[in-house]
Amino acid sequence: MSENATKNIQELGEFGLIDHLTSGFTTSNATTVLGIGDDCAVIEINAEESFLVSTDMLVEGVHFNLMYVPLKHLGYKAVAVNVSDICAMNGKAEQITVALAVSSKFPVEALEELYEGIQLACDHYQVDLVGGDMTSSWSGLSITITAIGRVANSKMTKRSGAKPNDIIVVSGDLGASYLGLQILERENEVFKANPKVQPELEGFDALIQRQLKPEARMDIIELLEKMEVIPTSMIDISDGLASEVMHLCKQSGTGCQLFEDKIPMTDKTKLTAIEFKISPVTCALNGGEDYELLFTVKQEDFDKIVGNPSLSPIGYMTEDTAGKFLIDAAGDVVPLKAQGWQHF
Ligand code: ADP
Ligand code: MG
Repeated sequence: MSENATKNIQELGEFGLIDHLTSGFTTSNATTVLGIGDDCAVIEINAEESFLVSTDMLVEGVHFNLMYVPLKHLGYKAVAVNVSDICAMNGKAEQITVALAVSSKFPVEALEELYEGIQLACDHYQVDLVGGDMTSSWSGLSITITAIGRVANSKMTKRSGAKPNDIIVVSGDLGASYLGLQILERENEVFKANPKVQPELEGFDALIQRQLKPEARMDIIELLEKMEVIPTSMIDISDGLASEVMHLCKQSGTGCQLFEDKIPMTDKTKLTAIEFKISPVTCALNGGEDYELLFTVKQEDFDKIVGNPSLSPIGYMTEDTAGKFLIDAAGDVVPLKAQGWQHF
């Protein structure tokens, strides 16, 4: 491999690289309803129902640091992030497969802990572990999970269905997971410098929990069903609000206006961001790993959503030509930029 090849991957970025490698592929099976480009692939079962399939990989040193990530939490998180992608299509996860690459030096007890976490998540989300793969690794632990779910065709929600004037809604609150990571990183640096110093984690439990043990918002999918709301588009927030809203806009062919003061963040998130000298809204826009659901609803569904403590309307879709903007706290109109996680 030449130096050139590495540089090209960086230039393409994660999504450019996927596009570059897969744009020459076509699908030839009638059951393949939706291929690459959404949170899940959609495979038709019959006129009423489809299967949903999603794969996510977590790699040591890239996605997690075993200095401070307990393996039980890692197992739970690996399942949750995959279930989250099934939720993002308005579906329900039913099965998972787990593929592990692991050093033979790893104690069996450690892998038992990892599987305890996987089992906890399987119980919590009511999914069945049905297979996987196991191989040795010379470069750290990697865990790849594929989740298989099911959705009624009439409820299936893609990234591409939003229309101008649809209201943009986000579940829960944002920015906490990124700050949880900052705290863990800070204490890890202190520990590396002086292993005798006790980590200062007190008071940050909620933020750390959001980083180490995020939940897939299956409860929101159930809530939407109860409210009789079918979103027009949906995505889960793995890379930060800005990046995800831009995916919805790009695939729906819309622009958007977001209001900074409507973006849900807890007081703890805001105060901790300030402690780290980061603007709180930056944590929500570019932090990532919140695993909340971001979706759009028709204007006529607004009354069903408004006032629900788990759902925050944060803006609306516009015509594509109107651009993508954030109205900041001072009322200034700022172009939206997606930084998110840069893998390459
Ligand atoms: P998410 O953040 O929801 O997990 P990604 O950004 O990882 O989604 O992936 C975007 C789309 O690209 C998905 O449809 C995914 O299945 C597809 N994809 C990702 N990596 C590859 C790959 N190596 N080969 C083919 N498709 C891929
Ligand atoms: Mg996703």
